[in-house]
Amino acid sequence: MTIKPTRIEAKKKLTYFIEEKLVNYSKLRNFKIDIDDKTTTSNLSPYITHGILSENEVVRESLKKHSYLTSEKFIQEILWRIYWRGWLELRPQVWKNYLKNLKKLKDEFKDNKKYIQVTEGNSNIECFNDWVKELKESNYLHNHARMWFASIWIFTFNLPWELGAAFFMKYLYDGDTASNTLSWRWVAGIQTKGKHYLAKEWNIKKFTNEKYKKIVINENALPIKENIEYSIINKELKNQKIEGNKKLLIFENNLFFENSEYNDKIFEKIIIVKNDNRKNSLCKKVINFKNDLINDQLNRLNKKSISCDIINIDDIKKIKEDFYIFYPYVGENLDFINLNNLTKVNFLYREIDLFAWQYCNKGFFNFKNYIPKIIQKFC
Ligand SMILES: Cc1cc2nc3c(=O)[nH]c(=O)nc-3n(C[C@H](O)[C@H](O)[C@H](O)COP(=O)(O)OP(=O)(O)OC[C@H]3O[C@@H](n4cnc5c(N)ncnc54)[C@H](O)[C@@H]3O)c2cc1C
Repeated sequence: MTIKPTRIEAKKKLTYFIEEKLVNYSKLRNFKIDIDDKTTTSNLSPYITHGILSENEVVRESLKKHSYLTSEKFIQEILWRIYWRGWLELRPQVWKNYLKNLKKLKDEFKDNKKYIQVTEGNSNIECFNDWVKELKESNYLHNHARMWFASIWIFTFNLPWELGAAFFMKYLYDGDTASNTLSWRWVAGIQTKGKHYLAKEWNIKKFTNEKYKKIVINENALPIKENIEYSIINKELKNQKIEGNKKLLIFENNLFFENSEYNDKIFEKIIIVKNDNRKNSLCKKVINFKNDLINDQLNRLNKKSISCDIINIDDIKKIKEDFYIFYPYVGENLDFINLNNLTKVNFLYREIDLFAWQYCNKGFFNFKNYIPKIIQKFC
């Protein structure tokens, strides 16, 4: 699958999906079919993760062509990202603990033979090896393959979920702190306590159109146990009035200033921030992909004669006056701001997030009830 890092390509892909694929999405989405024009899902996640397409825009465009009923399953999937982000905002300690454990585990497993075999695609499970290869070559995996992959990693290879999540983050073009960390926790059975996702041979065979013959995996494992209760933190998040002619900083997950609710405000300059120094390291192709998306945003702003620069994350410390930042969500970029005590920062939030996050205190089934209300207000 090819994913070209421009807004123009993102828009083309969205239009193609809405015109050709959306109508059969709910029926076919679980099938993993490895032929480019036969794909069953939208492949839009690398764009949505980086803000090149917003959830509002995707839902709005879908509803222009299809009824709510036809689009419902797709709209629910689109809203998962907002839900996961909101869930993590309320429990940021989950992210902190993940990073702490990851540091320890990376060291512990660096010479582990099984871990090396698995991550090099040399295990004794053919389908798993194919997905490792696919992930490294295309930097994408179908959702069902991600679920099987994570399940086999945790319950057949008995490897820690944190290392699996870091492996995905390293190679995925759509690597997203909340969606990735919480999906791995969900497969392990610690996100919804006691409920894990166990991949089954019949299921893999059916949804890959019998591509694989004999798949020997552990189909009887028990969920992973975690004895931590994460309580919800109370954060008063609200937007402030934009005042004065200040700089606006944007990170990699908000690379579409023109489409934001702040696009009519005047900023002294827009500064796009690159982060090449992460705890969860990224492969070269993912770094290049992000850089291309950043350059695409820069070019679009230049065409509109909006003053714009690119800086490295460390250079934020040099900004001495008050400035705005599009809120980067719980993750490595926010950690940098918090760790460095950057007091001149004023966060700007997306209104859809502020509204939807009030429904993220419970599970997605509860959140789902509010989706019509959310999209009526924002899409
Ligand atoms: C273990 C695991 C790890 C994952 N890691 C990531 C990740 O790092 N980044 C990421 O964007 N998604 C992640 N997902 C969710 C999901 O697999 C991808 O969003 C989806 O495969 C993207 O393909 P698509 O655009 O064709 O999806 P479609 O089926 O076309 O869905 C449309 C859009 O809805 C959103 N979406 C769909 N399913 C989910 C979901 N479960 N969670 C959040 N958003 C969703 C995405 O924005 C997607 O583009 C993960 C899932 C699992 C099981």
